[in-house]
Amino acid sequence: MNYKDYYAILGVPKNAPEKDIKSAYRKLARKWHPDQNQDNQRAAEEKFKDIQEAYEVLGDPEKRKKYDVLGSDWQRAAREADQQRTYRNAQGADFGNFGGFGNAGGGAAGGASGFSDFFDMFFSGIGRQRAAGPSGFSSSQQRGEDLESTIELALHDAFEGGKKSVTLQVEDVCPRCHGTGTDRKGICTQCHGTGRVRETKRFDVTIPRGVRDGQRIRLAGQGASGPGGGPRGDLYLVVHLGSDDHYERKGDDLYLDLPVSIYDLILGAEVRVPTMTGDVTMTIPAGTQNNKMLRLSGKGMPKLKDGGFGDEYVRLIGQLPTNLTDKEHKLFSELSMLRNGAEANAKR
Ligand SMILES: [Zn+2]
Repeated sequence: MNYKDYYAILGVPKNAPEKDIKSAYRKLARKWHPDQNQDNQRAAEEKFKDIQEAYEVLGDPEKRKKYDVLGSDWQRAAREADQQRTYRNAQGADFGNFGGFGNAGGGAAGGASGFSDFFDMFFSGIGRQRAAGPSGFSSSQQRGEDLESTIELALHDAFEGGKKSVTLQVEDVCPRCHGTGTDRKGICTQCHGTGRVRETKRFDVTIPRGVRDGQRIRLAGQGASGPGGGPRGDLYLVVHLGSDDHYERKGDDLYLDLPVSIYDLILGAEVRVPTMTGDVTMTIPAGTQNNKMLRLSGKGMPKLKDGGFGDEYVRLIGQLPTNLTDKEHKLFSELSMLRNGAEANAKR
């Protein structure tokens, strides 16, 4: 277990007033929010969690004082805290250490609180109020925490929408010890004292038609079970759309590169073009330039809000013939001379 320098994490001095801690936290939390860091989400999640944890401690006068007092003697304090916790858990009444930042999809092994082992060692008994649900539960009943996971979808899934059954690994409160980590005989054998278990569960998810990459789908009441018999939190699934072999998506529009012969471009042609709903026939007008983009109206993705569909844009990629036969070579030469002659005539 490593000592966590919460002051360094928030970048504030040890004597920083409460308002500085708060503003440092807000700034960093905005900067490292996983939604704002799609490119390096994993790293951002870790960072974000550290920031949350640091503020959980320094933003709370009671916890901050405790943290300041341990100082360099934290290892001895850790042992004492451990003994205290074991005692409290034996009473079976410590439900205070749940809620907050779920990490169902994060993969990082967190403590009972979802924070680091260091945090749990010192603060598991103080209790965390952040995840407490709407009022109306008794003090030992809390709404379970919200969990987050990712759902991998193909472009066609996003187009079709509808029900999809997915199997996900989610973290939940241990059903054997109800999150205390201990039972009458000692350490809980199911969760080995962590109070948490990873479970593989099936979920029926309704995919909205036209769903975007990074969008969150909420499954109400499918999050972690609530301590003390409180209701479950929600499960959020972050949509990850895999890249498609054919289409590039921009908003509700789709882009497709279509190889065509130069004869089709020069002379005009009818060609078959794939769309999300099957092939259609598209007319290439005679004298079309290479790389020209043609639009198939309404053949794009379903629009999430307004209904209707985006468009499909087809970029025509002329394929030049190679390995010409002698005859072809001769004919192209003639065409070239004809064209040069025509241009020479035109200039006269
Ligand atoms: Zn357990």
